Amino acid sequence: MTTAPRPAWSDDDIEAFRDLAATFFEKECAPNEQRWGEQQHVDRDIWRKAGDLGLLCPSIPTEYGGGGGTFAHEAVVAEEQVRRLAPSLGTSVHSTIVAHYINSYGTDEQKQRWLPRLSSGELVGAIAMTEPGTGSDLQNVKTKAIRDGDEYVIDGSKTFITNGLLAELIIVVAKTDPDNAASGISLVVVETEQARGFSRGRVLKKIGQHGQDTAELFFDGVRVPASNLIGTEEGQGFVQLMQQLPQERLIIGVVAAAAIEAALAETIAYTKQREAFGKPIFAFQNTKFTLADLATTAKIGRVFIDDCIAKHLRGELDIPTASMAKYWLTEQQCRVADECLQLFGGYGYMTEYPIATMFTDSRVQKIYGGTNEIMKEIISRFL
Ligand SMILES: Cc1cc2nc3c(=O)[nH]c(=O)nc-3n(C[C@H](O)[C@H](O)[C@H](O)COP(=O)(O)OP(=O)(O)OC[C@H]3O[C@@H](n4cnc5c(N)ncnc54)[C@H](O)[C@@H]3O)c2cc1C
Repeated sequence: MTTAPRPAWSDDDIEAFRDLAATFFEKECAPNEQRWGEQQHVDRDIWRKAGDLGLLCPSIPTEYGGGGGTFAHEAVVAEEQVRRLAPSLGTSVHSTIVAHYINSYGTDEQKQRWLPRLSSGELVGAIAMTEPGTGSDLQNVKTKAIRDGDEYVIDGSKTFITNGLLAELIIVVAKTDPDNAASGISLVVVETEQARGFSRGRVLKKIGQHGQDTAELFFDGVRVPASNLIGTEEGQGFVQLMQQLPQERLIIGVVAAAAIEAALAETIAYTKQREAFGKPIFAFQNTKFTLADLATTAKIGRVFIDDCIAKHLRGELDIPTASMAKYWLTEQQCRVADECLQLFGGYGYMTEYPIATMFTDSRVQKIYGGTNEIMKEIISRFL
């Protein structure tokens, strides 16, 4: 288990909130991780517990039921989740992403309708962009939401959706004008309880993150009120996505930086107690040099991500820098997890050792939130 010095962007209130999150993940989540992994989802009531403690939607204004904090509160929840080895609860998608689309672009009525229930855990949130035929090329989504009187009729399918099994509020990326690319895209909310024609497919079997319910979703003539369009105007979805994706990428970077530190701490502790040839593994020059290299990476990653967080809190984090944080830190996370695992020998391949889970969980970080190739595309556009 790792602790880190207080970052410059934090303060006493945020650290008290960090302690709350740490205790929650350590006591309420970590002991259940193995079972959640086997059943491929967390228990539904853990969302309520997180909501009761104020750990959901911490940066949504209090008038809409949120915590009234900032991105710093989102960051400490993500960091403590990693440090307490409790990765399954999909809070980043729920709080840092889904709630923020509603908060940033929703009408007051929509905010009143949905945000308090997301904050309490009464609703679990998901965002459905990816389709079987379209991932990176988001402008090319085929799911349609066609206006019919006072309703939208949604047809299409989505895949790889985090919180897909348990979500009751799903932001669907759909074409309200299928003849147009980016300008035809809108974000439409589906509340699954009332949605006839909505169904969930398999909870997908993954190589890591086993306790997160990543699922397929199907929409077959699903009718939702026209007032479920996020905002007041059709065709704004792509712009809304582009504006919010930097925060999504930043939180992935926050997780990566914390995961690097956690893997390093686990490995230093292990190599100091495991012996070979009559001395600790740590004493071999190869081990010391590897760990010195990884500790340097961890330090650079920490300085970079703290700077990104501070910039985001000031409203100054630009699109390429957020993409750099996602790209570079997740590449390093995968490298660090791999090199640390090697220092565990065969034990590193055994799932009872956290380093094994850190290794398998890390891989997807280079893929979701926009692949790292797409991150490099974005960065290069600003050169
Ligand atoms: C565990 C998990 C959770 C996820 N959660 C969600 C979620 O909650 N909501 C959601 O909507 N999606 C989610 N996703 C989907 C994820 O965002 C996509 O998988 C990702 O965007 C890539 O899309 P794709 O899988 O269709 O790959 P593709 O777009 O088919 O890409 C395949 C390869 O081609 C490369 N490529 C594509 N275009 C270019 C280009 N222009 N230049 C260079 N290389 C390119 C990619 O980088 C990749 O290496 C999740 C995925 C996983 C695995």
